[in-house]
Amino acid sequence: MTLLLSSALVTPGFANDSANKSVVFTEKEMQTAAWIRDAARADNMSYKILESLTTEVGPRMAGSPGDARAVAWAEAKFKELGFDKVWKEPVTFPAWKRGVEKAEITAPFQQPLVITALGNTVATPDQGITAELVEFASLKEMMLAPSERIRGKIVFINHKMQSSNEYGLVVPGRSKGASEAARKGAVAIVIRSVGTDSHRFPHTGVMTYDADVAQIPAAAMSNSDADMVARMIKRGKPVSLKLEISASAAGSYTSYNVIGEMTGTELPNEYVLIGGHLDSWDLGTGAIDDGAGCAITMAAAEFIKRNGIKPKRSIRVVLFANEEQGLFGGKAYLAAHQTQISKIQAAAEADLGQGPVTKMASFVRAEALPLVKQMHTVLAPLGIEPGDNNAFPGPDMGDLRMAGAASFGLALKADDYFNLHHTPDDTFDKIEPARINQAATTYAVFAWMAAQAPISFGSGVELLKASK
Ligand SMILES: [Zn+2]
Repeated sequence: MTLLLSSALVTPGFANDSANKSVVFTEKEMQTAAWIRDAARADNMSYKILESLTTEVGPRMAGSPGDARAVAWAEAKFKELGFDKVWKEPVTFPAWKRGVEKAEITAPFQQPLVITALGNTVATPDQGITAELVEFASLKEMMLAPSERIRGKIVFINHKMQSSNEYGLVVPGRSKGASEAARKGAVAIVIRSVGTDSHRFPHTGVMTYDADVAQIPAAAMSNSDADMVARMIKRGKPVSLKLEISASAAGSYTSYNVIGEMTGTELPNEYVLIGGHLDSWDLGTGAIDDGAGCAITMAAAEFIKRNGIKPKRSIRVVLFANEEQGLFGGKAYLAAHQTQISKIQAAAEADLGQGPVTKMASFVRAEALPLVKQMHTVLAPLGIEPGDNNAFPGPDMGDLRMAGAASFGLALKADDYFNLHHTPDDTFDKIEPARINQAATTYAVFAWMAAQAPISFGSGVELLKASK
């Protein structure tokens, strides 16, 4: 995802700011933005929206009955909040169903384990699979091991995620481990959960199978159980695991991206795109992942509307369907709006928990950089640092950016995120009003200023070209 764009964007010759002194926000606009920042800080709408979603809907795994309830909730909530336009766009994907999931160490020390099936896994036979465990420190280490060590065994990838920065490093063991293990003759795979916690909850998450290799069952055990299993293995005798999983594919399912828009006054067809993903995993109630992102962005737009400070361009909030099992909502949005990338003034998704926002990066044409600087001036008192001009807008908007959409990266503080992420412990009680409110306030200021900006931020192929 990291392209080196920033230096190219600030080279002289592309920009002509000195000749165009009007490319700044007016004094009055700066005052309005500061007013939004201060007034929204005293608001608790994001907290209320998230309370509503987690209480009235709860788990909403893509393709489950909770998915349909979440779509109905979102449509009704947008209307209740006074959005000018509310609509749905279909998103079709293969659904997956969780079933029984059980594991126990059968020898040398019999103990039950706390595990969960990974999303998209196949089932074990009815009687389960019992086999010896073979431990590896990482996916990489397993891929280097000879097949003779693995054949007929259950692979245990014991890769501990040490900090929130290591998700990208550790997650391939979850997403690709099963096929790599199957290639070497493993009968199942059980990984240490991808999470930074030390509680006894397993972390689920999606995995996929390569087409050219057998499909073996895949599960994750809690960090505490992984520690214990590793201690057993250290004693030097073979350690056997019995795994029972009854998950199954559940056919094709159509959910929806649910969209609410506040209409702009002068350029209503151009819009600032914000949002989060509406689906969650099924173990918790999806408070931090990603009810928070939905609530933050819905509340940001609602605050602007409620206070009658309509910007020139529209503000569009998209609650994406099925992010968790393969970014299906983001892909469907791009497919439906591919020919109108230039209408997106700026894109920014919230999908890393409850906030606060700690940094603002941009991806805009050079002429707009003075405006970004002014936006940062307004946001700095919230504790937000300036970023580079190489922003990534979030998972569901990543493809839009690759298609040239001007983007902002409003970085959320993820200190608690990977303790809770994809576990039964992702629940509303973890949400701190001051944190989520700061994030909603940031999104309100950002969305209003981007929608009010005197010039386009440059979405389109020209932006991509200039950045190469
Ligand atoms: Zn998420």
